[in-house]
Formats: sequence, structure tokens, C-alpha cells
Amino acid sequence: MKYIGAHVSAAGGVENAPLNANQIGATAFAFFTKNQRQWQSKPLTGENIRLFKENCRNYGYEAHQILPHDSYLINLGHPETEALEKSRNAFLDEMQRCEQLGLDRLNFHPGSHLNKISEDECISIIAESINLALDKTSGVTAVIENTAGQGTNLGFSFLQISKMIEQVDDKSRVGVCIDTCHALAAGYDLTTKQGFDEVFDEFDKLIGFRYLKGMHFNDSKKEPGSRVDRHASLGKGSLGTDVFGLIMNDKRFDGIPLILETPDEKLWPEEILFLKSLIK
Ligand SMILES: [Zn+2]
Ligand SMILES: [Zn+2]
Repeated sequence: MKYIGAHVSAAGGVENAPLNANQIGATAFAFFTKNQRQWQSKPLTGENIRLFKENCRNYGYEAHQILPHDSYLINLGHPETEALEKSRNAFLDEMQRCEQLGLDRLNFHPGSHLNKISEDECISIIAESINLALDKTSGVTAVIENTAGQGTNLGFSFLQISKMIEQVDDKSRVGVCIDTCHALAAGYDLTTKQGFDEVFDEFDKLIGFRYLKGMHFNDSKKEPGSRVDRHASLGKGSLGTDVFGLIMNDKRFDGIPLILETPDEKLWPEEILFLKSLIK
């Protein structure tokens, strides 16, 4: 079963996310459980939580079809103590929000070394940040997203992600989300069948499909290997649409949220229908 959706708005309350997802014909969705550009947000109310769960039930969304995304401000690999602490606290708050909403996974960008520490040091800090959050929560998997490798962002190679997972104590609650735009920008060739096969063989060898807890479906405005993160609508960038046909017909991508983060939300209903139409 393929679950297909988009990163929808939760404006006015988290309970609106499942409604917005249903309106575009989605069978999966992503959303922010708080304002993604602010450190502090009001706690979820009992009413938010009750209505979110009720709306998910009414429209048929179960936890494994939902991939919440954390705030862009958080850097779990921050080289400085005070800033790291702030990020770790904010991440714990996000994990706890997922717990409250009955969700089983939280998607995040691993972190950046800011040219102040080595890649490996940063990877260890990220893994420790994950360990700390997992210690204080239950039932929610921390889902590391591959990045485009823009600036000093880590997690742009499968090897880096595998090193993070290696240092996480509870392997049952760490996972990976692969973003097609980020992978292409980081130099993984997903434009051909041969490239696709090689990339996901490497993924399976270094990380393993058992860790795959979600996908982000985006084309890329920039060229392959650009290390620049600019999403494009499906078929409107340098990735092309062949890769989506391959994924939609590959059982290794079953049962997880497949999420559009494409820039033109007016196209989401069409893009969802297009992805469904690729299934043979
Ligand atoms: Zn993404
Ligand atoms: Zn991106």
C-alpha cells in the first residue's frame, strides 16, 4: 500500500492538518506541530489533541501515514553548549507533542557543524541529542532526513546517516526519511533506472530499508550535485518523473508516508493523482 500526501498547513490548530490533507485527496500527510520559525509555542490544549485524533479517525489517517516535521531552527549537532541545549529542549518538546497526538515518528534535519567542529564530532553530538530525546519519550521514532548538504548541514550522505544510527542506543526508535530533491542535490543520481538501483542498493547496504520511515517527493530547481536545496514541482526540475514511477512500483516503499513538499500547493491534488496513476 502506498500512502501519498503533502506537507499541509496546520494554521488555526493542529486539528486542521487532517482536514487539509483530506481536501487534497491525500492518504498521508506531514505538518508542523508548532510554528516552525519560532522557538516558543503554546502547548497543545486538550481540545487540540482531542480534535486532531477525532479528525484523523474520521478521515482514515493512522500514525504510520503521518510524518510531522520539526522546526527549522533546531540544530541537534550545534557545536556550542548553550545553543545545543536550546535545540535539544526544543526537540524534546516536539517529540512530546507527537506523543500527545498519538503519533509514532518525527522527521528532522540532523544538524550543522558550522565549521567549528569536525563532521564526525558533529555526528556524535547529533546521535547523543537523539539518545537524550528517546530517553525521555516513548513510542515516537526520531526520523533523520537526508539533506542537500547546503552550507554545513550534515546528513547529505548515507554514510553520515549510518554513523548517526550506529551511535543511537535504541535502534528500534530511529529511522530515516529520504528526500528526492536533497538526494539529487547531494549527488545521488536518481534520474535513471540504473542510478535509482545503485542509489537504493547503497542505501540498503549502508542503512537498510528497515529504517525507512518516510519519503519526501520533490523535484529540484538546481542541477544534480549542486548541494543547493530548492524544491520544484514534480516534473519541473532536473530530477524528472521517472524516479517516482520506480518508487510507486517498488514494494520497499510500501506502508510509509510519501510526502510532497513541492512549492505550488495548488498542484498538490494533481500531483497526488499523477503519483497514483503511476502504479501499474
Ligand atoms: Zn524534505
Ligand atoms: Zn528541502
